[in-house]
Amino acid sequence: MAVSLQTPYVTAAAPLWSGGWTRQQAPSLPVPTRQDLQRGIKNREFFTQYQPKISMATGDLVGAEALMRWKHPRLWVVSPEKVIGLAEECGLVHELGMQMISNACGQLERWIAEGEKAVPVAVNVSAKQLSQEGFSSTVIGMLLRQQIPPHLLTIEITESAELQNAEACISAIAHLKEFGVRISLDDFGTGFSSMAYLKMFQVDEIKIDRSFVTDILSNQKDRAIVEATLMLGKSLGLSVVAEGVENWRQQRCLMRMGCHIGQGYLYGKPMAAEKLKLGVPEFARKAG
Ligand code: C2E
Ligand code: CA
Ligand code: CA
Repeated sequence: MAVSLQTPYVTAAAPLWSGGWTRQQAPSLPVPTRQDLQRGIKNREFFTQYQPKISMATGDLVGAEALMRWKHPRLWVVSPEKVIGLAEECGLVHELGMQMISNACGQLERWIAEGEKAVPVAVNVSAKQLSQEGFSSTVIGMLLRQQIPPHLLTIEITESAELQNAEACISAIAHLKEFGVRISLDDFGTGFSSMAYLKMFQVDEIKIDRSFVTDILSNQKDRAIVEATLMLGKSLGLSVVAEGVENWRQQRCLMRMGCHIGQGYLYGKPMAAEKLKLGVPEFARKAG
């Protein structure tokens, strides 16, 4: 069965590889099918961009989040969430997800080989991927083969409405954690069971969702939620990252509340790995 994506799944931004079209100029938007995905995976059309995680106090690069991009020969940019949704429907999510983890491991391996200080890289993993049999062993095997210290890989998990196989997810997380891989709880506070997730999974990090950061200066409820999350993180000994930091006033407010790590357009949009490294002095200068 060919599963297709509808127009709203395609983002408005015209990427470099779209042939320079704008949304208005595009004659008709082709929609990706299972065959597109299969070919994309086979031809390695999916690549990774990295968004910096920054120490707000020093401007140091303390990590990076790996975000999926699709260099599709015909299509506009398709949001990674939709690609993952499509891959889940088509039964291709394991293959695609492993390609993303393999990209991150390859990057870490290159940094180590070049004698550069490798920063931890976080990869997003859906509940479906996590519950796939053999997921944790495959990841551990990859790290061992490429001799990557496990603490350099973080798995970011998001609350999912369809956590049908909770047991499998819990055991995969426990296996990875025991090996030394870091676990991060993404989009914290946006779902219905964030606390249950916190209890269920052994996490090292919580990420405060962008929706609470955006209006942090004007919305008292958002501030209270961020404050409570920071307190929760502190009492559980977890590191807390604020997502979607876009300006200095938001950063200052977060710092006053005791948040030390930020991610967002203020420090940099998702970018090529080489740029990420070049950017370090720039982040430091900005934070100063
Ligand atoms: P996420 O994990 O919450 O990733 C952060 C998203 O917010 C990214 O969107 C990033 O580009 C965007 N962002 C970061 N800072 C800012 C900011 O300051 N302002 C604004 N407006 N946006 C910001 P992106 O790359 O479109 O990814 C969307 C989602 O797709 C991710 O949300 C994640 O849930 C999922 N995703 C991305 N890559 C993968 C992947 O390899 N595997 C899986 N399973 N999911 C992925
Ligand atoms: Ca994430
Ligand atoms: Ca997030």
